[in-house]
Amino acid sequence: MADRPSDGNAAREAARVLCVPASETIVIVFSGAIVGILTHWVKRSRACPGVESCPPAAHRGNSTWYGYAPVRLYQSDRRLWVPRTLEVTENLEELLRSYDLAGQVWALHRQCEGRRRSGRVEGAYLETRTDAALVTPFDVRPAVQRLYHQVEIAFGVKNPTPPRVMLPVAAAAAPIGWVETASADPRPPTAEQLEALRRMAGRGGNPTDVGQRRRTPQASSNGKAHP
Ligand SMILES: [Zn+2]
Repeated sequence: MADRPSDGNAAREAARVLCVPASETIVIVFSGAIVGILTHWVKRSRACPGVESCPPAAHRGNSTWYGYAPVRLYQSDRRLWVPRTLEVTENLEELLRSYDLAGQVWALHRQCEGRRRSGRVEGAYLETRTDAALVTPFDVRPAVQRLYHQVEIAFGVKNPTPPRVMLPVAAAAAPIGWVETASADPRPPTAEQLEALRRMAGRGGNPTDVGQRRRTPQASSNGKAHP
């Protein structure tokens, strides 16, 4: 029973890989830096073993970068910080890039749109801790090797995503033909409305149609233009 949480300091846990869940905000402290790898999709996600050992077709195909960081996750029900290997997405790495992470406590959550399982991971800095039990780094590579069932993995790859280009938002007049009703619905569009917008964009339709359809759904029933 040595693993029971009631044993307090004696409890040990594997630093297994932790993905930021869609359903809740998690709070973690970084115990060290992010280590990056490339993955290739070959029927499943495979870690790149490095250009010398990687099948050329796979290596030339689409790659997705993932980072892994040693963290301690706060479990409020147990009032314990448990070791985990945090999976860091490309956009989260971009957010964290300018910080000296060791000892920093962050709240992380995943922004999900509709039914998509994956979404942007976002985070907020909370505080910096110096407790040895929280900031002592550990090697994340074994957990990553277990995750991919691969021993040969090229670690230390930098996130290849180019930095986001930030530009000012323009508060200018609406485009010609765009119908703005006085009682405009202040809520964001629903999933169905977004899907209609995407279909429209794919067909090269014009956004006025979507705007009108959204506000007067019955109008589309006799419109031959939109079967
Ligand atoms: Zn490769």
